[in-house]
Amino acid sequence: MDQKNRCRLVLFPLPFQGHINPMIQLAKILHSEGFSISIIHTRYNFPDPSNYPHFTFHLISDGLSEAEASKLAILRVIKLLLTNCVEPFEQCLAQILSSEDSDHRVGCVVTDAIWDFTQAAADKLKIPRIVLRTSSVCSFIAFSALPLLRQRYLTDKDYRMEAAVLELPPIKVKDIPRIETHNGEDMYRAIENMVRETKKASGLIFNTFQELEEPELAKLQEQEQFLMPTFAIGPFHKRFSAAPTSLFTQDRSSISWLDARAPGSVLYVSFGSIAAMDQQKMHEMAWGLADSMQPFLWVVRPGLARGSEWLEMLPNEFLEATRDRGHIVKWAPQQEVLSHPAVGGFWTHGGWNSTLESICEGVPMICAPFFGDQMVNSRYVNDVWKIGVRLEKGLERGEIRDAVRRLMVEREGEEMRQRVKCLKEKADLCLNAGGSSYQALDALLKVMDDTGK
Ligand code: UDP
Repeated sequence: MDQKNRCRLVLFPLPFQGHINPMIQLAKILHSEGFSISIIHTRYNFPDPSNYPHFTFHLISDGLSEAEASKLAILRVIKLLLTNCVEPFEQCLAQILSSEDSDHRVGCVVTDAIWDFTQAAADKLKIPRIVLRTSSVCSFIAFSALPLLRQRYLTDKDYRMEAAVLELPPIKVKDIPRIETHNGEDMYRAIENMVRETKKASGLIFNTFQELEEPELAKLQEQEQFLMPTFAIGPFHKRFSAAPTSLFTQDRSSISWLDARAPGSVLYVSFGSIAAMDQQKMHEMAWGLADSMQPFLWVVRPGLARGSEWLEMLPNEFLEATRDRGHIVKWAPQQEVLSHPAVGGFWTHGGWNSTLESICEGVPMICAPFFGDQMVNSRYVNDVWKIGVRLEKGLERGEIRDAVRRLMVEREGEEMRQRVKCLKEKADLCLNAGGSSYQALDALLKVMDDTGK
């Protein structure tokens, strides 16, 4: 295929940091392979078009005012977006299709799996839809089994958190993505819709690599309803970094502070862009870190502690006790931090981008999952890949202190480090010519070329 003649692709990211990053990275990968790229986006959390002069951007109305959205819980924002964007998306896509010419044929749309309504719009406009699922395959399998798992394990009021989920080892009942907010049923429906509409798509892309999730990829493909071709073409960020898609300002003092630290000595702590906790949990975190006696770089995102501007909730005694060995920022250049020689461990919430970025830099983890896919990802880090420690009691200072020391000081941590380094090597190799992700990308490009004919 003459790369210059490749068709136009229309991409539609879900507007959250952990979804925008991989979609824009995918856009860059596809653009570098010769496709023209159009991005449909909401006003809420929109990416800055000036960072991507080669892409065409189309703004759609999302019906959210900035002031209103900033006060809403994230699940409520998702629900509103899933309702408000239906018509604007279809109209925008129709308009893009009506303005195509022979040089700019639109081959297909690539939308985030959570945008469930986009399949109906694509069907109506007779254009194939390829889905990007921005999380792990293992968690997608758990999401697709969620109605069954809820019925078997969560209907009893006193369900046993530590019990095994027999259908999906090594997942435990406490790892099932539960939604315990008052509008939980809405979100369960959104997940069911996501899975149902993904089954109708023409292809399914994962930001993972075969060597990491081979049994899970095989399991998914064995499921009759997932008949579409599946492409494990990650890790995306190893081809194109996430930096320009950051919604927050990255504090460069993270790097200068790390420069003055001994190799492998620092624990990097960050819970991504959405997770939040109350004051009591912040205190447990702080004292767990203090009691571990290890140097740490901690991202305290404004909003991480519910109801506080930034650090007001942290006790002064903690700040004083850790002044010489702790550095706190609002947002860090995470990939650069993880690749810094001073970083020896990552305490994460188990978001998929963070997990993958840590694996790709050979950094072992402590996982404190909050919701959604994070519980399954963390279980895999602990039980399957054995490259980290999942905090089993939530946020409790004694367990935190012990986990930090297990990871950073003890032999067990060194063994995890060796295992994650092996995975890092596999991640590097899979992108090279002939590697698994390289081949899967090749197959995806062929499918996309066919859609553009
Ligand atoms: N991130 C960052 N700086 C930070 C914290 C996070 O650049 O201080 C980036 C991180 O590299 C990752 C994304 O934000 O790409 C978070 O995605 P993830 O899936 O881990 O978590 P989410 O934010 O979706 O919960």
